[in-house]
Amino acid sequence: MPARITFMGAAQTVTGSRHLLTINGKNTLVDCGLFQGSHELNERNWQPFPIDPSHIDAVVITHAHMDHIGWLPRLIIDGYKGPIYATRATVELARISLPDSGRLQEEEARRNLKHNHGRPTPLYTEKDAYRTMKQFVALPYDLLHPLPGGAQWKYVPAGHILGSAFAQIYFENGEQILMSGDLGRFNTPIIKDPTVIDFTEYLVVESTYGDRSHPKDDPKEQLFRVISDVLKSGGVLVTPSFAIGRTQEILYYISELQREGRLPRFPIYVDSPMATSTTKVYMSSHEEHDGDTKEICAHAETFEPQGLTYIRDSEQSKMLNSQRGPMMIISGSGMANGGRVVHHLLHRLSHPDTTVLFTGYQAEGTLGRRLLEGQEPIHIMGQEVEVRAKIEKINALSAHAGQDEIMTWLRNFKTPPKHTFIVHGEPRAQQALADLIQKELGWELSIPAFLDTYDLVK
Ligand SMILES: [Zn+2]
Repeated sequence: MPARITFMGAAQTVTGSRHLLTINGKNTLVDCGLFQGSHELNERNWQPFPIDPSHIDAVVITHAHMDHIGWLPRLIIDGYKGPIYATRATVELARISLPDSGRLQEEEARRNLKHNHGRPTPLYTEKDAYRTMKQFVALPYDLLHPLPGGAQWKYVPAGHILGSAFAQIYFENGEQILMSGDLGRFNTPIIKDPTVIDFTEYLVVESTYGDRSHPKDDPKEQLFRVISDVLKSGGVLVTPSFAIGRTQEILYYISELQREGRLPRFPIYVDSPMATSTTKVYMSSHEEHDGDTKEICAHAETFEPQGLTYIRDSEQSKMLNSQRGPMMIISGSGMANGGRVVHHLLHRLSHPDTTVLFTGYQAEGTLGRRLLEGQEPIHIMGQEVEVRAKIEKINALSAHAGQDEIMTWLRNFKTPPKHTFIVHGEPRAQQALADLIQKELGWELSIPAFLDTYDLVK
């Protein structure tokens, strides 16, 4: 039974996860993500899929981040007709984020048409995204399920975001490949820890933070410091945040700080329809929660600190522009490369009483990365903006394992995998992780390039 893997995205870059397993001539695509970041990466979304999508027999999704599911509607437009497997929470989150992505694509196309630059048509529409949802099949964790070509597979928790999973895929000869998607962290609030794995023949592992470990600082304490400073100065805190996971984590910590009497009630605006719906899914997904959250979730305020207002309407969002501090605006996207937060930044970056707090990875080419690198002035939507705001970052809030945490997880393997593939990282991070794995564990590994193919079972 021959089996091989071909890397069709997230190969020497952080986004666009798409890995094709060909087992006995049948094709299973693991993840189908959007490329995000620079103009060049965005353009990759317009290239035809490397194989005809009608020749793909199944899709397995590891989690609901856009760089893992965001290309699905396009795959379907281009001819994919089969099932899209995902955990229940991933389906719920995709139901929110894919139509939102379609809406954003339509808005961008309209803007491009109006300004006569860029592409005047959307990659896909909101309607295409809803159509995509019909092909989703929710599967529970730990249930063995057949794959085309005679393989069996199951999901186990990945600890990255709600619904995130590793796919353990067993070939007919008994060997397995572990598609680990994005690797989460141990001892974070809300969701369960990543599953400890001690054996696999083949391993695909991400390397977003392959070259650095997260600081040991307590993210709650860092958040406390930034928020306290803003409240004292009466300023405005703008927090670009990923709608899925990060926003809920921030709300969770603020609630906790208020419960402990360390933060007062203050105006907090979650200006993201998607984050609002996502928080509801987080509150109701009890099977995903770790022990602490299960207990606390009995109280509604877990993700709803005092002073919180959800903003859905774009008119309401614009009204925030005239509002003065102290207040906090949490809005997407997390890398400020789109979404309502761009308008808040455009409006507030030139004010010295503004603090911008980044809470996650900022990919090359994004507005977030440019601000963190201290670019000044900065260009936003064709306008030059002076940056007088204070720029802060909490690294400890990442949903991805840092270098030391990836290594801790890898050290659980009792025997080395026959081969390890390092994906989902910028080249420097990938090389650093590869060097460390080889030095410390002596494993055989590769950093696949776009469209590289490897035989797994001959
Ligand atoms: Zn992810």
